[in-house]
Amino acid sequence: MFNFRFGRRLAVTEESYDFPPFRPPSEVDSLLLRVTRGCPWNRCAFCPMYKQVKFEKRSVQAVKRDIDTAKAYTGGNVETVFIADSDSLVIKTEEMCQILEHLHCTFSSLNRVTSYARALTLKRKSPETLRKIRSAGLTRLHIGLETGSARLLDRMRKGAGPDTMIRGCTRAREAGFEVSLYVLLGIGGESASQEHALETARVLNEIDPDFVRVRTLTPQPGTPVFQWWSEGSFQMAAPETILKEERRLVEGLSVTSHYLSDHVSNYAVINGSLPADKTKMLALIDTALEKLAKDAAFRAELEGMRYLRRL
Ligand code: SF4
Repeated sequence: MFNFRFGRRLAVTEESYDFPPFRPPSEVDSLLLRVTRGCPWNRCAFCPMYKQVKFEKRSVQAVKRDIDTAKAYTGGNVETVFIADSDSLVIKTEEMCQILEHLHCTFSSLNRVTSYARALTLKRKSPETLRKIRSAGLTRLHIGLETGSARLLDRMRKGAGPDTMIRGCTRAREAGFEVSLYVLLGIGGESASQEHALETARVLNEIDPDFVRVRTLTPQPGTPVFQWWSEGSFQMAAPETILKEERRLVEGLSVTSHYLSDHVSNYAVINGSLPADKTKMLALIDTALEKLAKDAAFRAELEGMRYLRRL
């Protein structure tokens, strides 16, 4: 028995449905559909997600079979779909459009179809191609920005600099996609926190995404960052540094975006709509900083979060 949709157990076997191993927290109620396996890049220094998975593109026929299986098990009552794994738009545009058309024909109540995407892949697509995919029914893209700092993107082997991030994401927005960007607090460690906050705010302001989602760096065994940390060549940011970094980031944002801390790795739950909620969000961070200064148990709790595993 496997989870077909998170929180709902159905008698589908691994052989009869290709379950993706990861999805964004916001896709908790979505049908999960695997179009590729793994990550075609797979080199980011902080990322353990697909290290054991050989990248493969699935055939359109196999994906359509999974869509038909999903219909049989859900009765066709599906409103949101998340397409996996990490960079689905690397498949041929025609194939993606065929899959999207089959999805929309199969589930008439579908109102959101989302996917992970790399900014470099988006930058390589023409505006016409992106519009075609959008018209076929892909509505939102989840993209890992991580940081706006060119130096840190390079150090973390992200394979895309700030210009690529801005051009790829802007192109997606202009094609009509909702764009959800992920920021990794602490990616600069103790020494480059300010650079990370300021440069990330600058890049986000240029893109003005629909969503900004923050996570906090928790080094995972098997990744270069974990090794650097173990050897002492990377100094993890202290809880105060992380909270001040987030404060600096929020303060520097002039976006019209939903800002969300929808991940267990975060030190403070800061959610809101920008710019309307900025003052309240900054006050919440200040409260967390004050608590940190006075409360040893809170400090120990935050310091322990860097040891979270299997996120
Ligand atoms: S962060 Fe994304 S692009 Fe980088 S290796 Fe992980 S899945 Fe691939």
